[in-house]
Amino acid sequence: MGLNKQGTSYKSFGYLEPGNDYNAFEMCDQIERVAHDLIVLNSEEDQRVKRLIADNIIISMHEHLGVFPKDIMETPAYCKEGRMTTAFEGLANSGWDAVFDNLMDGIAQIHSKSGWKWDDVLTDLGHRLCDIAHQDFIIHCKNVNDIRTAHKEGKMAWIAAMEGAAMIENEVDRIDLLYGFGVRLLGITYSESNALGSGLKEPRDGGLTMFGRKAVERMNKVGMLIDCSHTGDQTALDTIEWSSKPIVLSHIGAKALWESNRLAPDDVIKACADKGGVIGMEAAPHTTLTYNNRVHTIETVMEHFEYCKDLVGIDHVSFGPDTLYGDHVGLHHAYSAALSLKESKASNPGQEFNEVEYVKGLENPTEGSFNLVRWLVKHNYSDEDIIKVMGGNTLRVLEEVWY
Ligand SMILES: [Zn+2]
Repeated sequence: MGLNKQGTSYKSFGYLEPGNDYNAFEMCDQIERVAHDLIVLNSEEDQRVKRLIADNIIISMHEHLGVFPKDIMETPAYCKEGRMTTAFEGLANSGWDAVFDNLMDGIAQIHSKSGWKWDDVLTDLGHRLCDIAHQDFIIHCKNVNDIRTAHKEGKMAWIAAMEGAAMIENEVDRIDLLYGFGVRLLGITYSESNALGSGLKEPRDGGLTMFGRKAVERMNKVGMLIDCSHTGDQTALDTIEWSSKPIVLSHIGAKALWESNRLAPDDVIKACADKGGVIGMEAAPHTTLTYNNRVHTIETVMEHFEYCKDLVGIDHVSFGPDTLYGDHVGLHHAYSAALSLKESKASNPGQEFNEVEYVKGLENPTEGSFNLVRWLVKHNYSDEDIIKVMGGNTLRVLEEVWY
């Protein structure tokens, strides 16, 4: 339905007076921040892309749908306000029917300098929900029917997601509370370890803890989708084994193509697929590079996609591009420590790469929604396979996991 979207003229916090009710920042342009690079197709291929997007449900497994300040260095002050602008304009111009939005994530440093605090996470979520409650283009998605409704009505299903569970501390009931507040995906750990298990940056991976097992069981019971994109490998394998339901690696790539803690070895990718789960390809700047191609673009992301598809089959792969509206590379510079970027990236001899200003072809969620389908059409994927990887596989997992 992406091409028939209702559109919206709503602007974030339109019910408030900027400067009086809150500190307003000058935001970047949601459409034209950089010149976009649509993959070139002939007119027949172009028609096929339009039909595929119009007729089928397409889902992004992982993005951050906030808009960032034009001057990215204002981001810490902006985040401290706790009131993040949602990209209504960018999304109304995208092809997505449903998107997992990972909110402020590690930069939700509202009352804390270190992030991931219960109060901060709820402040971020509450402001976003209040904003969404004042418009009718984005539907706060609670179940699979909401995704179908969004597709039918030219709206977008917004799925609240959190990349790590540090904020539940040792309180398993907080999983129920998050579900009650409308969160539908929870990561086991972000890159740092927590009470559930080990994060990907730790020197040793102790696997899923006893509390982690309890949390996994609770997530299965309440219908919370589990994500292991930022856990250590052993913690991911233990989670997959302990969970009675499929889990996802919503935004990741293959370590076989580029050695990095942020990417998964074959055994983790295979275990996720064997359990019925889905692996979403990551495209945040400088993550899914390959030894073949050290300039990060949509082409390197698709090398990871094809590798994973050949490893586990077309029914278990999709996309979680992890894009946003703003200077993502600048954001990484400003928040390197909070996002554990040094420990997540490849730094071995022989893994030098050139930094890009942005990932060509997958710069923001709007561009990604079109270019992924365009790439698949250009590379002669069948309609059936495109429908699976652009949303069908994720829908299958959600039908099994969500309440
Ligand atoms: Zn992430």
